Order: sequence, then C-alpha cells, then structure tokens
Amino acid sequence: MAEGLVPCPHCSKTYTMKKNLYQHMRTVHNVSPQLKGNIRCPLQCEENFSSHKELRKHLENLHKYVLENEIQEFENSETFDVWKKKS
Ligand SMILES: [Zn+2]
Ligand SMILES: [Zn+2]
Repeated sequence: MAEGLVPCPHCSKTYTMKKNLYQHMRTVHNVSPQLKGNIRCPLQCEENFSSHKELRKHLENLHKYVLENEIQEFENSETFDVWKKKS
C-alpha cells in the first residue's frame, strides 16, 4: 500500500482523501464513518474532532484559516461564513 492512502475497513479499496473514503463507505457499504468527536469541520470536509484545538489545527493546515481564538466554535457552515466575513 502506498503511503498516504486511506484503506476502506470494509473492502480492499484505498483512497487518497478521507473525504472520498467516507463517501465510498456511505454509498457502497451503507455505513457512516466513525466519528472522532462531535465537533465538525465547518467546511463540509467530513472531518470530526474531539477538541476545538484539533479543529483549529485542521483549519490551519488544510484550509489555511487561522483562528485567533483557541476555542472558536462553529455550529455549522453558516456560522463559519459569518466569522470568515468578519476577519
Ligand atoms: Zn469499501
Ligand atoms: Zn476541514
């Protein structure tokens, strides 16, 4: 298996993006991906986090958004959009 690939736990398929794996799991195996926590990335990339710190890191690394506030909370993509416009 090449590095950086995410294997499907239900079959032998691998994906380079978790997002695509999650979509595959839902459509092919009819299962929801296991959630790490209940904090969702507001950018609909299917990632979940157990702490705001992790979400913050993820937003910085993947989406290039830097949160000033350590515990900035986003209930959904709309609240994120509001924050985005403000900054
Ligand atoms: Zn599969
Ligand atoms: Zn994300």
